[in-house]
Amino acid sequence: MSKKGSLVIISGFSGAGKGTVVKELMTRYDCYALSVSATTRAPREGEVNGREYFFKTKEEFEELIRQDALYEYACYVSNYYGTPKAYVQEQLAAGKDVILEIEVQGALKVKEKNPEALLLFVTPPSAEELRNRLLHRGTESEEVIRERMNRAAEESLLMDRYEYLVINDQLDDCVTEVHQLIQREHLRMEANTDMVTKLQKELKEMKGE
Ligand code: 5GP
Repeated sequence: MSKKGSLVIISGFSGAGKGTVVKELMTRYDCYALSVSATTRAPREGEVNGREYFFKTKEEFEELIRQDALYEYACYVSNYYGTPKAYVQEQLAAGKDVILEIEVQGALKVKEKNPEALLLFVTPPSAEELRNRLLHRGTESEEVIRERMNRAAEESLLMDRYEYLVINDQLDDCVTEVHQLIQREHLRMEANTDMVTKLQKELKEMKGE
């Protein structure tokens, strides 16, 4: 029986290390497909178009919105970010669990459209640790770091809309926890209605024998 994959949303404050968690998840397990987002933000050093993001101009991004080519999109610290629709749909149909690493507004929009989507929130153990990680990343100016910390304070007010909180203290443990949470979703009764129907039918037939 072919099974559709699940949609998994991983959010977390900028600097929480969710990118590293997702990368490690993809390296360890081959059951996941990672959606590559489109963004109008400039590439950071080492980022490759089509790998970390599809880098777009504002006009190109707005054209994607007009064409209804995005599953969701949001504005984050003065830039657009959005999830290309076609890839998500293809991969779900192929039975892959599709990972969206997106911010809170987009995540809640996806949840509205798709109530079965699993919402995971990744955070460092404290606000102090978050600021340290942003400072040590060294890729952002002080101004952007301040904006991202302010945004984290806003996002923290919506954290309780997520289903699970994963603390990224030890990377290895965090990745294992995320994998286990996703896999557990496949055991939910609602995710197994075909199997339930099949068993009910088989048992009914056997009863008559
Ligand atoms: P960064 O600029 O640090 O790569 O990403 C900034 C924020 O945008 C992160 O919280 C990241 O998860 C989020 N983000 C990345 N891609 C998308 C997307 O397609 N949609 C939404 N809504 N947020 C995204």
